[in-house]
Amino acid sequence: MKITFPHMGTSWIGFKTLIEGIGHEVVLPPPPTKRTLDLGTKYAPEFACLPFKVLLGTYLEAIELGADTIISSGGVGPCRAGYYTQLQKRILQEQLGHDVRVITFEPLNRNWVGTYRIFRDLIRVNLREFIGLLWLTWQKLLALDAIERESHRVRPLEVNTGSTSRVVSKAFADIDKADSVKKVKDVTRDNLEKMNSLPQDAHRHPLKVGVIGEIYVVLEPFVNLDVVETLGHMGVYVHRSIFLTDWTIENTVLDAFRVEGEMNIKKAARPYLPEMIGGHGQNSIGETILYAKKGYDGVVQLAPFTCIPEIVAKSIIPKVSRDYNLPVLTLMLDEQTGKAGISTRLEAFVDLLAMRRVRLGGEIA
Ligand code: SF4
Repeated sequence: MKITFPHMGTSWIGFKTLIEGIGHEVVLPPPPTKRTLDLGTKYAPEFACLPFKVLLGTYLEAIELGADTIISSGGVGPCRAGYYTQLQKRILQEQLGHDVRVITFEPLNRNWVGTYRIFRDLIRVNLREFIGLLWLTWQKLLALDAIERESHRVRPLEVNTGSTSRVVSKAFADIDKADSVKKVKDVTRDNLEKMNSLPQDAHRHPLKVGVIGEIYVVLEPFVNLDVVETLGHMGVYVHRSIFLTDWTIENTVLDAFRVEGEMNIKKAARPYLPEMIGGHGQNSIGETILYAKKGYDGVVQLAPFTCIPEIVAKSIIPKVSRDYNLPVLTLMLDEQTGKAGISTRLEAFVDLLAMRRVRLGGEIA
């Protein structure tokens, strides 16, 4: 099979390792571009949210590159994500006539048998090799998250603008090439050391900003117009609320055994939003409160246009913001949003946070 999958941040590096390892050709989903979004927008229903459009465009580009199978995830709950893969399948197969197979992984605790059947059809190696591949994939995903986390800390301190991002790109390429757990750990350690030895200005006291919102727009830099890197270059330490490995443990591994994850976030959100409303709506409330309690200077909420969970969260956030005295900037993202406009809004927000910190007796540099 020639398999492709959604492009979400750096996760393609892990998924490529796994799918190649189990015996299939990988058609790498091209990093999303304006063309991807245009393609997705052209064939998506008008009401669909931004992630749907980008993913549909990604699948169409991967099909052009020869993919005959798409692996994606389903879902349950109030948000539309649960039926998006089915809708994309219909558009690709029935509306556009593509001869492509779509494989959907549903949440494990509802579909152990279905998941087993999918793996049985896909895996062309023995169980021992498969477990080794899963471990290598997981180590790569952990390494990618470790590199990104550290880059968020170093970037606002870097003396030479762009030096952190260059190490990050090299680290991603090294992790992609690594073919054993030992090599993954070696290249990760080397690149973290390289990042830490970059010239840094230790006298700076960067503003601290939490980035919250829907998982796809938080993790995919093309869709969020490089918000994290842009803030870093403005001298801001960014804490991204979602990393794929943390999310997987809290929402896939625990959920498989019917254990509720992210309890601290949900508990914090409860006085304002006691119900799970789908997507990351409740998380956006809880995370804002936790950032306030940890002394952050501000929060940026990333919300895809027409995303109901984030719209509900956005309507509650002003009260949270007042109660906890924490500025929050909401960025609604759709196919019309441009990078220049986002940068201007971020600059204004950062200026406001800097003035506020000084007014409260803190220092910046
Ligand atoms: S969480 Fe929002 S953006 Fe994501 S699929 Fe659901 S409605 Fe769409």
